[in-house]
Amino acid sequence: MTIRNRISGQFTLIVASILIGFSLLIYLVSATYRREEFYERLKNKARTTVRFLVEVKEVDNDLLRIIDRNTLTALIDEKVLILNEKNELVYSSVDDHPVRYQPGLLDAVRKTHEVETTNGENELVGILYEANGQRLVVLASAYDQFGQSKLANLRLTLFWGLLGGIVLTVGLGFFFAGQSLQPIGHINQQVQTITARNLRQRLDEGRRQDEIDQLAVNFNAVLQRLEQAFEQQRSFVSHASHELRTPLAALKSEIQLGLRRPLSVERHTEILQNLLTDTDRLIALSNSLLVLARTLENLEAVTMRIVRLDDVLFTAQDELLATHPDYIVHVQYDQIPESDTGTSVVGNEALLVRVVLNLLDNACKYATDHRAQVRIGTQDDYVWLSVTDTGIGLSADEKLHIFEPFYRAPGATEFAGFGVGLAICARIMELHEGQIQVDSEPGKGSTFKVKLKKA
Ligand code: ADP
Repeated sequence: MTIRNRISGQFTLIVASILIGFSLLIYLVSATYRREEFYERLKNKARTTVRFLVEVKEVDNDLLRIIDRNTLTALIDEKVLILNEKNELVYSSVDDHPVRYQPGLLDAVRKTHEVETTNGENELVGILYEANGQRLVVLASAYDQFGQSKLANLRLTLFWGLLGGIVLTVGLGFFFAGQSLQPIGHINQQVQTITARNLRQRLDEGRRQDEIDQLAVNFNAVLQRLEQAFEQQRSFVSHASHELRTPLAALKSEIQLGLRRPLSVERHTEILQNLLTDTDRLIALSNSLLVLARTLENLEAVTMRIVRLDDVLFTAQDELLATHPDYIVHVQYDQIPESDTGTSVVGNEALLVRVVLNLLDNACKYATDHRAQVRIGTQDDYVWLSVTDTGIGLSADEKLHIFEPFYRAPGATEFAGFGVGLAICARIMELHEGQIQVDSEPGKGSTFKVKLKKA
């Protein structure tokens, strides 16, 4: 069942229930009102008749019958009977038609003084008249032709009104549901044309006001992220294969050189030494690529716990000095933390060590004095750590690209490296909901700063 049919069906059901309820109410109120009014008329008739008979001496049965039949207010099929205590008929407004009533009716009237009931199609009232020691039961019955025909008219009007109302509701419900769902159909058509190949396409966002426009806006945002992810993956693959090709080509030419003609043992040793260096470089590169690929994939699964940023710093410092004993790292607290947990953050220790290690390594690598100045401190809700060097520095344009995978500034190519370290750092900081910034001037040096929320 389509949403359009469902909405118009539900709409019709609701409106039809309201219409039916309302029509029933109107009909029942009108019917009750008619009955009460008619009973009142019958009671008046009964009272007037009995009074005439008992209280006006000049009036006898025949005269009363003539009066009864000729009053303007005479009702259709009107019959008035007056009976005494022995249930003998004292007066009857009709003489030819027998009048039937339920056996217990007279007793009921004597008991309750007033009874309202029906007799076939006719309405019947019985009242007790007590005067001058007499207890007379007066029964008056008649057919409310005028009221019944008004009710029949009302029934007909309500029936056709109801039918028309329901037909109109079905039509309008179907029409308006179609109108409201039209934009969804439009979006559907547009979505069908989007494939992995044309992720650049976007949905029409309308005036960005209603829910469907919002759906298009959100869908476009998803498309944007998908496109970025695809783009990142594409560039990662092409950069990675390019980076691997260069050392592999170097390895191949070294091997070809070694095979070309008989060489001295010294020359062979030299070639093998070169092969070893290139293989080490290749291993380092594939390790970096693996880490980058993982960080681009799914870092959400890593475990987070409370770690002290100064502990992270000292671990990174130890690791760096173990591989580069000539590097110098100078650490300074901006202000001594008030407690042991003053520099605590929530994070993954191994990943944070990787970030700091990479910043320290770069600072020492790109500076001729191989010296990094580290400062650590807190500000408001953050713990920050900065690494400053007096190395080659970066231009404003280079600063824009250094966090992209495989980017290396032109001045950095004479130093060892693959251009993936900072991309990994940026991804790790993103995962920790932290920040990484750079402040640098070409030829003067750089300061890299990371900021993490206090635990
Ligand atoms: P790598 O250092 O291996 O090239 P990174 O991703 O760590 O890769 O750095 C990317 C680029 O950013 C470097 O190639 C270099 O151009 C620049 N860079 C990073 N750190 C510094 C620094 N301390 N001083 C100057 N340039 C830097």
